[in-house]
Amino acid sequence: MHKLILKPGREKSLKRRHPWVFSGAVAKVQGQPGPGETVAIGSATGEFLAVAAYSPRSQIVARVWAWEDRAIDGAFFSRRIERAVEQRRTVLDTETDAMRLVHGESDGLPGVVADRYGDTVVLQLTSAGAERWREVIADALLEVSGASRIWERSDAEVRALEGLTPVIAALRGAREPTRIAISEQGLQFEIDLEHGHKTGFYLDQRDNRRRVRTLARGRDVLDGFCYSGGFALNALAGGAKSVTAVDSSADALALARGNAELNKLAQAEWLEGDVFQLLRRFRDQGRNFDLVVLDPPKFAPTAAHAGKAARAYKDINLLAFKLLRPGGLLATFSCSGGVSADLFQKIIAGAALDAGADAQIIDRLGPGADHPVALNFPEGDYLKGLLCRVTSQ
Ligand code: SAH
Repeated sequence: MHKLILKPGREKSLKRRHPWVFSGAVAKVQGQPGPGETVAIGSATGEFLAVAAYSPRSQIVARVWAWEDRAIDGAFFSRRIERAVEQRRTVLDTETDAMRLVHGESDGLPGVVADRYGDTVVLQLTSAGAERWREVIADALLEVSGASRIWERSDAEVRALEGLTPVIAALRGAREPTRIAISEQGLQFEIDLEHGHKTGFYLDQRDNRRRVRTLARGRDVLDGFCYSGGFALNALAGGAKSVTAVDSSADALALARGNAELNKLAQAEWLEGDVFQLLRRFRDQGRNFDLVVLDPPKFAPTAAHAGKAARAYKDINLLAFKLLRPGGLLATFSCSGGVSADLFQKIIAGAALDAGADAQIIDRLGPGADHPVALNFPEGDYLKGLLCRVTSQ
């Protein structure tokens, strides 16, 4: 087998079972592994550490498949996928038929994400190793999930770092339909498999959407960054007095409007625009809300972007605090890997202070159980949220 020999002392993170090997840690490459090929990782003293997938173009030059010296083959992928799917048996119920089946490193499958939308599984491959095993992974997913088709949405930007080009294609089963409806906690959402964000839907927010449903009754609700209407529809279903939902994407709003109709819910006020500007306009107009949800896109993919992202988070949250009536609630999120939970809380505290609002944290919010975070992989802990209450005078 091809081998990567590490520099002295650089085996430490692997001994803690962190699954990434950075290029700077490698002393030499033995053999001539191609992109995605399996390599053994050895310490400077010759100790075996792991078997991994080689990514010659990336700074993360290898991603660990297994900590024991074993073959990486069809049986390996079948077992890992089986394990991931089994562990999620309790997530689906009669009211929900969409969930994440495989969550990358945290399920022992670096570079592999698979989401189930009813009878369709959407696969996203983001590493050279995952790419190399595409067909094997697709077959295993089809068999283990019992789904009838697999769509591939390998168009995440991170693929470029691995020297991979985007792939959007029907991988197994019928190509059509490319739009399907899923159920989430009794609400229907249309998913655009070909053009939707991520793999089509933000499955990670399922529990938080339910939470918003339970909080919405009788409130004027603002859903910033609404995408296909996840939080807005839940607020309507929960008996909100009014719902105003904003997104900068006309396609997202078209999906959202369609979803409101699909569920025969009262219409929300759907606004196309930039949340940064709209919140200012609302402030100038003296508009107020009782519940604001802010679920922006990733402002900081890595820690290097944290400073700029912090200013953006502070800006929108400061404005949200200004728009909230006394007793109002703010459900605010960051899905930036580069912003820690601790930093996020500090940003929100600074925003409340500058807005002149006294506020409390009444809950900490995160992704659902189908988006686990392996304890040896803190990078997987990307989604954090705070539920804050503006205290009455
Ligand atoms: N809350 C949603 C997911 C939000 S994803 C759900 O539960 O499904 C983030 C959304 O923000 C995307 O739809 C994107 O189009 C939108 N967006 C990005 N930048 C924006 C901006 N400056 N103003 C308004 N919307 C923006």
